[in-house]
Amino acid sequence: MNLSQFSKRDIFKLLSCKGDDILNLMMGGSSKREGSVITFSKNIFIPLTEVCRNTCGYCTFRKDPEQLGNHLLMQLPEIISNIKKSEKYGCKEALFTFGERSDEIKDVKNLLDRLGFGNMSEYLYHVCEETLKKTGLLPHSNPGVMSRKELKMLKEVNSSMGMMLENSNPRLMETEAHKKSPGKNPWLRIQTIENAGKLKIPFTTGILIGIGETLEERAESLLELRRIQNKYGHIQEIIIQNFRSKPGIPMENHPEPSLLEILKTVAVAKIIFPDVSIQVPPNLNRETTQMFILAGADDWGGVSPISKDYVNPEAPWPEIDELKQLTVEAGFSMKERLPVYPQFINSEFLNENILKKIESMDLNK
Ligand code: SF4
Repeated sequence: MNLSQFSKRDIFKLLSCKGDDILNLMMGGSSKREGSVITFSKNIFIPLTEVCRNTCGYCTFRKDPEQLGNHLLMQLPEIISNIKKSEKYGCKEALFTFGERSDEIKDVKNLLDRLGFGNMSEYLYHVCEETLKKTGLLPHSNPGVMSRKELKMLKEVNSSMGMMLENSNPRLMETEAHKKSPGKNPWLRIQTIENAGKLKIPFTTGILIGIGETLEERAESLLELRRIQNKYGHIQEIIIQNFRSKPGIPMENHPEPSLLEILKTVAVAKIIFPDVSIQVPPNLNRETTQMFILAGADDWGGVSPISKDYVNPEAPWPEIDELKQLTVEAGFSMKERLPVYPQFINSEFLNENILKKIESMDLNK
């Protein structure tokens, strides 16, 4: 794929098309998908901490230390016990998502010190290492912005990692969405994604749409990810996440993107990224979820038979069977995948211990 194939203007035009052109665009996106299989990963979601240095205008996950009392940090015995329970349901992915750089907050830092860890990355490393040793699941971590050194360390114990780009334009740092979120500086996020590429870490990323960005800025963000993928080839999946308004958040009165806007973005993403899976989280879009596969989406992401989606706690995951039924009704089949995509299961991208673990797994369970 040659980046010069698409200009920002081309993408802008596609994102602003109307009438029958929308149907043609959706068919264009759908035609880029290989076959008619929609993948998903059976996971358990482990929110290591809800403390976060950022305060995004759309967040319902983050909590202040005072709200959490004794639950600042999930501790290893609870983590391993929950993961062990998930084994019984056939889960294969232990998803560690949590507030970014929570160790910048004194209470978390003090607790980590007491537990013998210098920072959250060291704690995460330990948790992932124990998960690999004591359970049958593969870690996939989303720690937010990370240094190259931290990524290098975490690669040893992760089958893949992830972090949303959100949007590549720094203008968003002045808006309700990100004005209190230093970690949403696109420069820092692009650097993290690029460093993961240099280190050959299979990576999941994505954009958040409807947070006040213009169509040009949405186009720029997709092109920026394309530029990175052309250079490093480590992006396995791009999430198109739509802003949802929720009571009590700073952006409560901000309009949500329309269904057509989401559909057009999904189709354009698949056209620009025929080599990468495009995911739309089904729990955010229960009623419209089938439409996204008709526009080119080919992955449902992590679907958990047991854990709540803590980032969007008000949106329950559709049961796996229900999702399967919706997928089949739309003319597709659903297939389980690992947190690392097949093209990255090799020694170029994964450490020996992770490869051995995958070899030992019963993938039909
Ligand atoms: S969306 Fe993520 S980064 Fe932003 S405040 Fe919430 S937990 Fe932190």
